[in-house]
Amino acid sequence: MSLSARLPEPDDPPRLSRRIETVVVGGDDGWGIYHQARELIAAGRPVVNLTIGDHDVGPHASVLDAMAASAAAGNTGYAPVEGSEALRRAIAARVTARSAVPAGPEEVAVTAGGQAGLFAALAAALDPGESCVLLEPHYATYGQTVRAVSGRPIAVACPAETGFAPDPAAIEAALAPDTRAILINTPNNPSGAVYSRAALEGLADLCHRRGLWLVSDEVYDTQVWEGAHLSPRELPGMAARTLVVNSLSKSHAMTGFRIGWVIGPVRAVARIWDLGIATNYGLPGFVQEAAVAALESPEAEAAVVRRYRARRDAAVAALSALGPGRGWRLAPPDGGMYLMIDIRPTGLSGGAFAERALAEHGIAVMPGESFGAAAAGHVRVALTVPEATLLPALRSLAAAADRLAA
Ligand code: PLP
Repeated sequence: MSLSARLPEPDDPPRLSRRIETVVVGGDDGWGIYHQARELIAAGRPVVNLTIGDHDVGPHASVLDAMAASAAAGNTGYAPVEGSEALRRAIAARVTARSAVPAGPEEVAVTAGGQAGLFAALAAALDPGESCVLLEPHYATYGQTVRAVSGRPIAVACPAETGFAPDPAAIEAALAPDTRAILINTPNNPSGAVYSRAALEGLADLCHRRGLWLVSDEVYDTQVWEGAHLSPRELPGMAARTLVVNSLSKSHAMTGFRIGWVIGPVRAVARIWDLGIATNYGLPGFVQEAAVAALESPEAEAAVVRRYRARRDAAVAALSALGPGRGWRLAPPDGGMYLMIDIRPTGLSGGAFAERALAEHGIAVMPGESFGAAAAGHVRVALTVPEATLLPALRSLAAAADRLAA
């Protein structure tokens, strides 16, 4: 159930805009099990919460020290709306160090997390009524974000049977005359797929031929367990038509800091700075200084990468040791901080399985359907608790799936 669906129906004029009334369609924002788990936890019930991609361990101490020092030094007023010069330089340096195409601070807009970066990038690419291709399964907010800029999502499935890989020919077949952008996410939440160079080249070719923006959500770019991350911005000619969205939420365990960014051609980024004036009017200066400290500390990032690599490997090993399940299958994720478990052999939907897991075992996982029909019959497990809690929970889920399939 969405946040708005929890309120009584309004009955008085003035009417609300169609845009805001249709951000969530059908009263379901996909986060129902997460909301239920939070309510149970608040009521004191023991729940292993493996729903939302939030960290159990906070950022590196040096980041908190930098934030406190900045605030104590008086950096508590309005801060530069587009992001401080120091932060945009640090972000540009990160991109330059990791990719074949350098970036400068003039190509960076700082946003309130990757989420506001997605909103800004889509606002830059779409006019009202125009469409954007979303590849299912995708992060649960994508449809809402497209509709929030008055756009129209076009869903294209990346089926489990192909490893959730994008198929440029299927995407081209789904394009409408008014399609302006394709939104991709690699490493992918929820599927754990890391897109291959060939797939990204196919998407780049499509964008060139059809005059499209490629919005590339790369918030999991540090969490690559197999293969390597390639940003499509690095492909020939793509820096001019790619809007890269990223943040410190996943890479540095800084979800609550709400620090993200968009990297793109200057003409787009400058408009996103304008949008910043009309929305947040900048991010807190002491948070921006904490972000600079995070970006300048290799250990602040490495500690998070080590934690999730260890959990991912331990989780895959624990499930593999159970042998192929009667009621479940696991394709080990190539990236990201989640496992997608295929529970189709149980005959249940992901939603029905997740409801039972919560009611009967106190384990909260996300239904695959929250990420689109292409993930139906799956559940997504966030690797956001220590192994001592995670591994027994995974064994319980596997045993429950086996019993259901028996
Ligand atoms: N994109 C993806 C794929 C995500 O999974 C998330 C958060 O879970 C976000 C964007 C938004 O991240 P944030 O706004 O915290 O940077």
